[in-house]
Order: sequence, then C-alpha cells, then structure tokens
Amino acid sequence: MINTALAARFEISDKSLLRSFSYIGGKWCGSTTGETIRVSDPATGDVIGEVASLSAEDSLAAVDVAQTAFSAWSGLLPQGRSAILRCWFDLILEHKEDLARIMVLEQGKPLSEARGEIDYAASFVEFYAEEAKRPNIEGVTSHLPDAEVEVEVWLEPVGVAALITPWNFPAAMLTRKAAAAMAVGCTVVAHPSSETPFSALALAELAERAGVPAGVFNVIAGKAATVVDPWTKDTRVRALSFTGSTEIGRLLYRQSADTVKKLVMELGGHAPVIVFKGADLDVAVAETIKAKFATSGQDCLGANRIFVERAIYDEFCSRFATATGELSLGMGMDDPDIGPLMNEKAVQKQEMHVADALAKGAKLACGGKRDALGPLFYQPTVLTDVPAEAAIMSDETFGPVAAIAPFDSEDEVIARANATEYGLVAYLHSHDPRRIYRVTRALQFGMVAVNRTKVTGAPIPFGGTKQSGLGREGARLGMEEFTEIKYVCRDWAKGVKKC
Ligand code: NAP
Repeated sequence: MINTALAARFEISDKSLLRSFSYIGGKWCGSTTGETIRVSDPATGDVIGEVASLSAEDSLAAVDVAQTAFSAWSGLLPQGRSAILRCWFDLILEHKEDLARIMVLEQGKPLSEARGEIDYAASFVEFYAEEAKRPNIEGVTSHLPDAEVEVEVWLEPVGVAALITPWNFPAAMLTRKAAAAMAVGCTVVAHPSSETPFSALALAELAERAGVPAGVFNVIAGKAATVVDPWTKDTRVRALSFTGSTEIGRLLYRQSADTVKKLVMELGGHAPVIVFKGADLDVAVAETIKAKFATSGQDCLGANRIFVERAIYDEFCSRFATATGELSLGMGMDDPDIGPLMNEKAVQKQEMHVADALAKGAKLACGGKRDALGPLFYQPTVLTDVPAEAAIMSDETFGPVAAIAPFDSEDEVIARANATEYGLVAYLHSHDPRRIYRVTRALQFGMVAVNRTKVTGAPIPFGGTKQSGLGREGARLGMEEFTEIKYVCRDWAKGVKKC
C-alpha cells in the first residue's frame, strides 16, 4: 500500500517505481504471513506506505531462486553481464530525479544530496559493468623445476551473496555491493533497512527493466532478524556483505561463523579531524563543515572529533561556529543544508551527547537543541573544549553535533586520534609536507584525507581498519571480495595424451 497523494506531492512521476512488495525470482512477492512494515517520512511523520514484511520461509525462498540462477548468470560471457549492468546504470540515471525524490521522501535528506547519492549509486554500476570484462585469471611464473608445468590463479564467483544495507545511503550502499557481486557472476539476496526500503525496491524495478535475469538480484523487505538470520545459517549463501553499525556487524560475524562465509563488513566510524597550525584555515573550516554536516551528520565518514592545535584554536572555533550557524535546516524537498534525523533514537543520542559533554565541562558555541520544525529536527551544534571523558569523544554521534578540542603536540594528537576501536577515515589539515607524511603514516585508519573531505568514489577501495570493518568496497578489490581463489597447477608432461 502506497500513499499516492504523498507521492504526488513529491512529484514522483513514474509511480511504478514505488513498490510495496519484495522482488524475488523476477516476481513481486507479498509476505506469506500478510505482515507489513509501516514506513514514514522522517520530516513530517506522514505515512508513505506499508511494505510486505517477509517471513523466514519467504527469505529462504529467495536463496532458492538465487542458487538456481547462479549457474546461468556465472556462466554468461562477462560481456553479457557487463551489458546488462550497463543498461541498469543507464536506467538509474534516466530515473535519477524520481529516485532522488523517493529517497527524500523516506530518508529526509536534502534533495541535492539525494541527487548526488543517485549519481554515486549509479557510478558503482557503471564501474563494475566495465570491471566485469577484465580478466579473472592470472598467470604465475612457475616455481617448480619441471619444464612443462603451468601455474595459474583463477578468481571464481563465490555463489549466492547476502547483502544488508543501512538507511543513511539507501541506494549507494546497495549498488556498491550488488554491482560488484553481480559483475563477477554472483547472484544476490539483499535486505534494505526497514526504515528506507523504497529506494532498494525502486532499484529492483529498474534492474528488471534492464534485463537482469530472474533470481539474480532479489530484494527482501521485512524485519531484519527474521529475514537475515536464515541467510547466516544457510550453507548456500557463501558471502555476506553488511553495512551498518559495529554492534550488528559483530552479531552477523558471530552468526556467520558456523557456515564460514566470506565477510565484508562496512561498520561504524569515529573520524578525527586534525588541524595543525599553518593550515589554510579557510579550507580547514569549509572542509570540516562538510565532513561534519553532510547527510545531516548521519554519515559513517562524519567528523566526530575535531582536534585543533592550540595556537589557532580560538580562531578556528570562532570561524567554525559562525559557519555552522549559517547552515539552513529544513524539509528535504526545500533543499536545505540539513534535514531531519532518521528517528527518535537518533535525536535522543544528540541530546545525550550534548548534555553529557556540557556536564563534563564543554562549552556550547551554537545550537544544542531540537528545532521547532519538527520532532526529528536537531539544530546544527558546536561544542568546544570537549574533554576526552565526554561520551561524544568515544562514541559515534551520527548527527549534527560537532565536538572540538585543543591539542599541543603532534605526538599527542596522533595518540588521541588513534585511541578508538574505530578506524574508518581520518582528516588532516596541514601545509607541511613532512608532517603530512609522518601523520598520515601514523594514523590507524583505512582512509586518510589530507586538506579535503571528499574521498569516496567507485574506483577507490572504501573501508576501515579495527572495528570499522573487514574488506573493501569499490575498486577492483570490491569485486574480488565476492570471489574464491582457485590455484591451478597443470603438468603438460604427465598423463596428457601427446598430440
Ligand atoms: P544498523 O542498525 O546496524 O542497521 C543496518 C542494517 O542491518 C539494516 O538493514 C538493518 O535492518 C539490519 N539489521 C538490524 N538488526 C539486525 C539483525 N539483528 N540481524 C540482521 N540485520 C540487522 O545500522 P543503521 O542504524 O541502519 O546505520 C548506521 C550505522 O551504519 C552507523 O554505525 C554507520 O557508521 C554505519 N555505516 C557504515 C558505512 C560504511 O561504509 N562503513 C556506511 C554507512 C553506514 P532494519 O533496518 O530492517 O532493522
């Protein structure tokens, strides 16, 4: 059931992109139990619609069709898979505006950000459509003395891959996984977050139009534990790729242990920003504003701890608070800088982090409360002099609250930046090349951005160290996560009929 009046208000022109059933084996399927999940617009609380909430049996039926489809899909010429992915890419871009509006409706993000995410989502499909054609065989110079021995390494698709994606990037997190898996010949069963299922279902509609064969790409909505748990136990599911919180990542890691699946885990972040004396302050402030407030702060790459060298600390804090105060808060369709947060729990976390930091001695430079726009709108907030003991300095905030603290030496700030279980991304601002080299080497993060914020893109290996995850997405490596390595050693001198 879809609220068609609401869809009309958001000017979604192709109504058939709004699907309330799951997509399994090329068919739109309701739940065998008749259960549904209600999905609301976070900006207003208006009900967008209800999606069928699938049962554990429905979810296993998706694995059945994915397993059946695997042989033909993996056996297709790489050019064949590439052409279908390319067609999917074209259709995503053709329907960019509708896809962006669906995303604003269910996720609340500003329209420009939603459009940017659709471009980003499409870029993975394009990249892997190309990558599908690259050879998956590597010849190795033989280490054996026999003259006629030939050694090769083959990369083969692992089989059925389970993909579990979060609500903050409901399109891009799905295509980043699915296109990589499908390019190499895997079939997929995907569970989108129950808070934002419509973007994934719209992508399934476009996959069908692109000619993705039945059973290759399946999207299953429902209660996560019900739908995903059977996949973790199923020996036919050979890989599990998850993006979400470290807490659920740990759970899925444990649940997947009995069937020893290949795992990709893109988990939480707790990014430090380090600003050294001598850095270009205009750049440092502008880039840190982006690093903190993009996606309304609900971003695994979000700047959670901003460390500024004491000599420039007051100047940085003053400029940063002024720039933050100028950010607009509003409804996603009005394209503000910041939209609503996803749910009540997210807003409560901002309130808790702010109250805790203030109680421990931090100062409030701007914001610090919910906005009159609605219950899920939290004002962009700056806290200065935040002590190391404050919860925000060790826990991912995932919202528009910036925490700033001074530091006195390079060694001190490296130790503080690394003092976390997370290791996704770190940002560094400096004009000194030798310092940039030293600090980049010392930071224990999967990605380091120097004098800029934007690091993402289809050709780069995205991922973290420590408890920010396992494996990489994007780049050639992202595709290889969905392969098994087969080492082949052929002896042409023995047992082979001589011609
Ligand atoms: P989440 O609560 O961990 O949910 C992520 C996904 O896991 C959703 O599809 C959710 O489904 C599912 N899930 C929840 N409980 C589950 C269970 N018991 N078994 C199986 N699946 C389960 O995370 P989130 O709140 O959506 O996203 C925010 C987190 O994601 C942040 O920590 C952020 O840093 C991280 N993130 C990381 C990256 C990265 O690339 N490293 C990118 C984006 C976000 P339901 O919604 O249906 O419950």
